[in-house]
Amino acid sequence: MKNTILLAACAALLATSPALAHGPHEHGAARLNVAVDGTTVSIDLESPLANALPFEHTPSTPAQREAVQNMAATLHRADKIFILSVAAQCRLKKVTLQSAALPADLLSVGTSQQPAKLEYADHAGHAAEDAHADLDASFIFECAKPDALNGMDVALFSSWPALHELRVQILSPTGQHAAELNAKAHTLKW
Ligand SMILES: [Zn+2]
Repeated sequence: MKNTILLAACAALLATSPALAHGPHEHGAARLNVAVDGTTVSIDLESPLANALPFEHTPSTPAQREAVQNMAATLHRADKIFILSVAAQCRLKKVTLQSAALPADLLSVGTSQQPAKLEYADHAGHAAEDAHADLDASFIFECAKPDALNGMDVALFSSWPALHELRVQILSPTGQHAAELNAKAHTLKW
C-alpha cells in the first residue's frame, strides 16, 4: 500500500516536470524511439521546443501562432520526414503532437483557416517566458510488406535547422539498435 502511494506521488511529480519525465532538456538534441511490431511502425520524437521553434513559451502573437501551425503542418506530413523502405509500402496512419506550452488547437491538422483566437491567457501560466518546454510527437505507420522494411531516412534536419543530434533507439525484429543521427548522417538501417 505504501509503495503504491509513493509511486503515485512520484508519477505526479514527474508529470509536472517534463525535464525529469523525459530525460535532459538539451537544446540541439532530441530523442527518437522507433518500434517495429508486425505491420506497425511506431515512432516517438521527444525534443526541446527550441529545436522546432524560435521560442519555448505559449505563442502570444499572430506570427508565433503561425510558426506553431507551420511546425505542426510539417509534422503532420510525417511521411516526408520519416522515409521508410519503399518496398515495405508503409502508410502514415496517425500523428499526435503534444506540448505543455502549446495550445492543442494549433497542433492539430487544418487549423490554419480558423481565425486566430485570443483566449490563451489561461495557458500562459504553464510556461513563463524563461521556462523550457518540450514537444512530444508520435507517429504510427502501417506497412503492407513489413518483411521489406529494413531502414528509414530521417529528413527532419532540413526542417529543424536548430536540431544537431538525434539519439535513436530502434526495436525491430532484428533486435535492439541505437544510433546517433545528424544533418550529414541521417539514415537508419536495421
Ligand atoms: Zn529549452
